[in-house]
Amino acid sequence: MTPIISAVFLLAVLGTTGLRIWLTFRQIGHVSAHRNEVPVRFADKISKEEHHKAADYSIAKQRIGLLDTLVGTILLLLFTLGGGLQMIADTVQGFFPDTDSYAFGLALFAGFGLVGFIVDLPFSLYRTFVIEARFGFNKMTARLYVIDLFKQAALTVVLGAPLLLAVLWLMGRMGEHWWAYVWLFWMGFNLLALLFYPTVIAPLFNKFVPLADAAMQARIESLLARCGFRVGGLFVMDGSKRSAHGNAYFTGFGAAKRIVFFDTLLERLQPEEVEAVLAHELGHFKHRHVWKRIAALSLISLGLLWLLGQLMLQPGFYAGLGVSTTGTAMALILFSLVMPVFTFPLSPLFSFLSRHHEYQADAYAAQQTAANDLVTALVKLYRDNASTLTPDPIHSMFYDSHPSASLRIARLTSQSPGRPKIDLAPSGGGSDRRSDPGVQPFDA
Ligand SMILES: [Zn+2]
Repeated sequence: MTPIISAVFLLAVLGTTGLRIWLTFRQIGHVSAHRNEVPVRFADKISKEEHHKAADYSIAKQRIGLLDTLVGTILLLLFTLGGGLQMIADTVQGFFPDTDSYAFGLALFAGFGLVGFIVDLPFSLYRTFVIEARFGFNKMTARLYVIDLFKQAALTVVLGAPLLLAVLWLMGRMGEHWWAYVWLFWMGFNLLALLFYPTVIAPLFNKFVPLADAAMQARIESLLARCGFRVGGLFVMDGSKRSAHGNAYFTGFGAAKRIVFFDTLLERLQPEEVEAVLAHELGHFKHRHVWKRIAALSLISLGLLWLLGQLMLQPGFYAGLGVSTTGTAMALILFSLVMPVFTFPLSPLFSFLSRHHEYQADAYAAQQTAANDLVTALVKLYRDNASTLTPDPIHSMFYDSHPSASLRIARLTSQSPGRPKIDLAPSGGGSDRRSDPGVQPFDA
């Protein structure tokens, strides 16, 4: 049984890595092939230099992504079949001999996390201080980078350690249906995180001030009234502290929900464009996208936890993945390492749903404001973020949470051919997130 599990895993790794590499080359090829010509729709809005910059920036990011994929695959194989995780477990066992103890579990996760962090660090440094800097986007100083690292490490310990201990406790004490308890706990944790992220966590990294522009105020209030919204928080974030990329997003729920504009976005957009972007974000609220995501996350995590519950009982699960130390902590680490290999081919489904939500939010904005204002805002964002206008369609299918600029603009212009705002009937009724924020405007 063990050799079969190893063989299936190895084949899946090769398949997924091959697929990723193929997609990367497709994207590089497609962007390069369209480098010399600005797409017709954008010809009068985006200069040849700006188009070249976007192509070069996209290709530079794809190249480092390719290296990242290769190193990630080698690391995954070293951790598993190569015996790396077992080495970490043996070292940890020297300090904490009882592999069922919480101390062993915490130390195993810490050792595993530390190795991952060290391998990722050069990529993060290269992306920030070489690529982003070369294209004029980086505003991060070495000092701020180090401060951020310490804050993230502290947060990981303060939040991660109790979370892990609780999960290990539930796994150890709740019998064969532990996965149902862990699932309830995990969902509760996610809701709390969503509630506290905007008011407690995000302010650790950025300053948020209420949007105070007097001219904007009346405009925004009128939009909110028209949409039947009561939003407690419209905030401006000092995104310029780290990057020149501009964006907007919404976060939280209930009383904690807020809409956040990057200062870098506000300084480039006209008031009517800001209104259109806000209307797009309100569209996400109106269509209850936060709750739909939580529902999807909830179903997927239930399925995955159940699966882990079954796999953990199979000795072949450990041995087939190159480890001899069994137990809850090891099972969690193995599962989190191996699952993405099998779930990556499903990413077109999730990206499709996300793009569907973006179209819905765009359509809502076109209803509540002038579609053309959102179009000009989008063009400015793509231009100023040097986002490519010519992505490869298959690469896009896998990776893009937002439809391409051309598709969004085509749909916006066909939906609302310059309908004057005054004709729009007010709609009633009440209602109810960033690794690379600049790339796909209106990150949600
Ligand atoms: Zn959006």
